[in-house]
Amino acid sequence: LFRPERRNSVGLDLTNENTLRALGACLTKPATPFGEIHGVAVLNPADRSDVVGHIAFATLQAREDALARATRAALAWAAVPATDRARMLEMAADMVERDMAPLMGLIMREAGKTLANAVSEIREAVDFLRYYAAGIRAHAADATVRPLGVVTCISPWNFPLAIFLGQVSAALAAGNAVLAKPAEETPLIARAAVRILHDAGIPHDALHFVPGDGEAGAHLVGDPRVNAVLFTGSTAVARLIQKQLATRLNPDGRPVPLIAETGGQNALIVDSSALTEQVVADVMSSAFDSAGQRCSALRVLCLQDDCADRVLAMLKGAMREWRVGNPAHPQTDIGPVISAEARAGILDHVEAMRTRGYPVFQTDPTLECAQGTFVAPTLIEIDDLNTLGQEVFGPVLHVVRYARDALPALMKAINATGYALTFGVHSRVDHTIETLTAKAAAGNVYVNRNLVGAVVGVQPFGGHGLSGTGPKAGGPLYLRRLVAASSAIPAELERA
Ligand code: NAD
Repeated sequence: LFRPERRNSVGLDLTNENTLRALGACLTKPATPFGEIHGVAVLNPADRSDVVGHIAFATLQAREDALARATRAALAWAAVPATDRARMLEMAADMVERDMAPLMGLIMREAGKTLANAVSEIREAVDFLRYYAAGIRAHAADATVRPLGVVTCISPWNFPLAIFLGQVSAALAAGNAVLAKPAEETPLIARAAVRILHDAGIPHDALHFVPGDGEAGAHLVGDPRVNAVLFTGSTAVARLIQKQLATRLNPDGRPVPLIAETGGQNALIVDSSALTEQVVADVMSSAFDSAGQRCSALRVLCLQDDCADRVLAMLKGAMREWRVGNPAHPQTDIGPVISAEARAGILDHVEAMRTRGYPVFQTDPTLECAQGTFVAPTLIEIDDLNTLGQEVFGPVLHVVRYARDALPALMKAINATGYALTFGVHSRVDHTIETLTAKAAAGNVYVNRNLVGAVVGVQPFGGHGLSGTGPKAGGPLYLRRLVAASSAIPAELERA
């Protein structure tokens, strides 16, 4: 199915016959869908006739049972030595690596990801498992590290394995019992991950898989037996959760901790000293990779007016080159957006901007195939950042031109969006780089490169303001929020 020369940069050996066979089998539409045939059908967003599998959402009664059992199991799980918990998570990491090909196939079919994106997501998931295992192992002898109790983990569909496993593994490592509610769009990959964790030794009562929609999520947030919430998703839902938790206290009288990682309105400033080819390559990957469905994705490209035409001409050429289509085809650069609803929302935004008179450039829509929920890469020229409202979660890039002397005002306007997730600068002038990076409010800042997400243990990821509460995922402070506040964890890591 895949040409051997498409050996990817993250180390998967596509010349290996067994890997190819396993991956091919996972991508071909099977006679019977994945898993049991009851519950709701999950469709491949690239091909709505491909039923990836079925999922039975947890009923109210099933959720109540999970809450009761997790509450009863919390003490027993907390008493399992940290080194044993770490060992189980490390074993799960080995198992994810062992099952890489079928998991990749599932991510590609359920979330519409390309091969390269699916591989890097699995690598990130493995890194999260090992990182939090190592984090808690380092504090195994610390008697002051007390788990919180029951933790609800609510995850989005755009990193259905990495974010899901990142949240769950951190909460489990810290000794908490977990209720894991994946996004309703991608429950199958989450179910596969939970099976691996159970197979690796995590007791079923310490980790409950609770698939469902927003109502199920709200139930698992609002129940007084829940002692902390990990949420990654939209800013709007984070606000609802924050409101729900505001009226509750844990039995120790402290507020219920919430770690929320939410959306961004991420900007890149390019000045006329920047290397055009490099800028275009980085903008393409930042704005359009994963069909723009990354919280870290570039949403606003700010071009100094004397290089704007040059950059835009080359950028439009690159956009024409990228192929939109089914990720099962190896030549595909951009897969579908997650659902028909998401597609409609993105296209509504583009049409609204067109109606308001902003120039819109879109690549050839004939590249899209009829059955899938595809959106062609789109560029919209705007004249001012105030035009931007909420994050548009798709392959839509806004471009704004600025004059050199307006740079301070531009930086202010970027910070004034209230989002503060990623920010980048492309320049070969040291003073410009230093000034802009010092002023940026964003949680993660990139210089002369593309905007990316977490690099576990190396580049912890997260924002503030409308973009999240912190602490950053994949960083030393994350586990700390998941244990009782009196804990000493992990002071020396904090300095690292
Ligand atoms: P979403 O907010 O619609 O859903 C996220 C999760 O919340 C889902 O599991 C959903 O079922 C659940 N949910 C919905 N309503 C709820 C409620 N009232 N109470 C509790 N749970 C509820 O987000 P999405 O569409 O799945 O994901 C895309 C969003 O996630 C984007 O805004 C993106 O920027 C953000 N995101 C942020 C990060 C980050 O690290 N900052 C990472 C990935 C995605």
